[in-house]
Amino acid sequence: MDKTRDATGEAPKGGDTAKMDSKAAGMNPFVDLVSSLRTAWVEGKTRTIEHRISQLEALGRFLDEKKQHILDAMASDMRKPPFEVELSEIFLVQNEVNHALNNLASWMKDKFVDKNLVTQMDTAFIRRDPYGVVLIIGPWNYPLQLILVPLVGAIAAGNCVIIKPSEISSSTEKLIAESLPTYLDKDCFAVVTGGPEVTSQLLENKFDYIFFTGSPHVGKVVMAAAAQHLTPLTLELGGKNPCYVADKCDPQTVANRLVWGRCFNAGQTCLAPDYVLCSLETQEKLLPALRHAITEFFGPNPQESPDFARIISDRHFQRIQALLGSGRVAIGGQTDEKERYVAPTVLLDVQPSEPAMQEEIFGPVLPIITVANMDEAIAFINSRERPLAVYVFASNNKLVHQVLERTSSGSFGGNDALMQMMLVSLPFGGIGTSGLGSYHGKFSFDTFSHHRACLLRNMGLEAMNALRYPPYTDRKMGMVLSTSRIKRTGYCTLL
Ligand code: NAD
Repeated sequence: MDKTRDATGEAPKGGDTAKMDSKAAGMNPFVDLVSSLRTAWVEGKTRTIEHRISQLEALGRFLDEKKQHILDAMASDMRKPPFEVELSEIFLVQNEVNHALNNLASWMKDKFVDKNLVTQMDTAFIRRDPYGVVLIIGPWNYPLQLILVPLVGAIAAGNCVIIKPSEISSSTEKLIAESLPTYLDKDCFAVVTGGPEVTSQLLENKFDYIFFTGSPHVGKVVMAAAAQHLTPLTLELGGKNPCYVADKCDPQTVANRLVWGRCFNAGQTCLAPDYVLCSLETQEKLLPALRHAITEFFGPNPQESPDFARIISDRHFQRIQALLGSGRVAIGGQTDEKERYVAPTVLLDVQPSEPAMQEEIFGPVLPIITVANMDEAIAFINSRERPLAVYVFASNNKLVHQVLERTSSGSFGGNDALMQMMLVSLPFGGIGTSGLGSYHGKFSFDTFSHHRACLLRNMGLEAMNALRYPPYTDRKMGMVLSTSRIKRTGYCTLL
């Protein structure tokens, strides 16, 4: 059943009766909610810096005061280890909140730009305008972070927001729906809960921006719905992130970083290294190092480790279990359906046509594909959809740069996995089927702002302006072009 809540947890403006009337009339159930938020936006409530600061600070308080509730909800959803929750769902969002608060005043300033001769007496600038009412749809794997980090950007940019968390991570969804609205301004922010049916109804409404994180399949559904209203959007999607391991790098360091990146959140991370490409010789060295890293991190039986999460749902457990039939299991492979436990697993001899190499794994399973050399690895990467991240491990920096030069992906990690997302100074996003647009730090503010081109002209100097008015003459044309022409600079013609 769908539920809508404003910041008080009550029915949105327009009231229950209006909602029931619109339902009885066969209208979309979210019309009143969207229109009440639009009213708040048109009134300018979210535009002031004071309002933006107060809402960002409230978000910070939510993270502080509800920390234990967040830890409990994620333990219930997927037994996410508290360390991982604190790092990836709380700390990371707090950093975004503080970064936005520290920089908001300068981000909001108009950006004055260069002018030509004709506009010398005028004022030309870019105003970062809020879009209006935006919709943020989140997935289940980082159910708080992937809702709240975009929310920081949307608030900082001065928008009203409807948040739609994933219904699959149901405990976190409940926490967001019940607690978050008590911190935020009820006129401007609302949480809607429910699954695909509710999301489809929401998407029938006209939003001014949509920010979606989830699978490429649903991304297409969201983009098609946005197209009906020509609504701009960001798509943060998934895919298979390749990791090339060059010969002659320390296998244990590579294995430690790979196992951490693959097993964090039990591998349910969009940015995780999805498979390894390396030579047969490197595979031989990597295998014992991977086994050692898994035992060091999770003990002899990872099922008993408090630091290893569970798979989110029975459906995903069965999906991952089926992937273990690709190639042969070299490490791990144990499963326990009751607990939705899949052991950290390494697969060898996987064919590119097998299921583990055809779909995003999204679990603690790492296939290794052997290649003759780096050229073959690059050709393999480039023969597939462009991923969210390409990783390379190599002690020779030149090799790292060659892989960077010759591949394309949303982000790139040299000699580590996941860590590129920890920097607020780097944009986070995909390319091609892994996504469209980016966010984090200032990039979030820019994503949720319309860059409005403003030119405020001087009312004087009409004689100068008359040059562009009819009747047109060659002389006028010559003068107009000479005052506005951009000349090529630094171009050397030898002849
Ligand atoms: P999903 O696409 O199934 O669901 C995402 C959201 O869309 C949920 O809120 C869900 O309720 C809604 N939804 C589902 N089906 C819908 C439909 N038919 N119509 C409208 N809305 C619908 O994704 P998921 O399973 O929650 O998350 C896993 C996927 O997300 C993986 O592919 C992963 O790579 C990707 N992901 C990407 C990033 C990123 O930042 N690029 C981060 C995390 C996850």
